[in-house]
Amino acid sequence: MKTKHANTAACILTALLAAALGCDEDSRTARQTAAETDPKAQSSKKEYPNMIKKVTKTEEEWKQILTPEQYHITRQKGTERAFTGKYWDFKGTGDYYCVGCGSELFASETKFDSGCGWPSFYAPADPNATEESIDTSNSKVRTEITCAKCGAHLGHVFKDGPKPTGLRYCINSAALNFQNKKSPPAAKKPKTR
Ligand SMILES: [Zn+2]
Repeated sequence: MKTKHANTAACILTALLAAALGCDEDSRTARQTAAETDPKAQSSKKEYPNMIKKVTKTEEEWKQILTPEQYHITRQKGTERAFTGKYWDFKGTGDYYCVGCGSELFASETKFDSGCGWPSFYAPADPNATEESIDTSNSKVRTEITCAKCGAHLGHVFKDGPKPTGLRYCINSAALNFQNKKSPPAAKKPKTR
């Protein structure tokens, strides 16, 4: 009798142990599965904080805010005559902004005298400020430059510029508005009476 009881007890113990081990195995697997399906572990939806918010207007709206020359050049891909624009020979220190949307496009630090009759820069103010596309008009293959924000036609980029980029951004003055370098705001003095 004694032996039988002992065997029964051993059987129960083994069964419990197996169950315990089994349970532990299950929970480990469950944890792994949870980790694999954890939404935080997967790549979350990509966000682009630096993405430029596009400016869109109707042709009538553009005509209202642009001069006829600015409209012709920026919205109809026109080109001002060489040596006639206001910035081709301009040497002010500051920044050039899009006439359509005010986006900063070029800086005087990258302006150089190309002798071509249009304001020339070797780089945009920001790589994301302008966009390039192939222009096959006038029986030529050129790279057109547009404002990334409002799509304004600015000019073309050529590969005969100076260092460090070797590029020449040949831009219509009428597509640009120049502003002097902003001076840092004067420190506010506490009012004394
Ligand atoms: Zn623009």
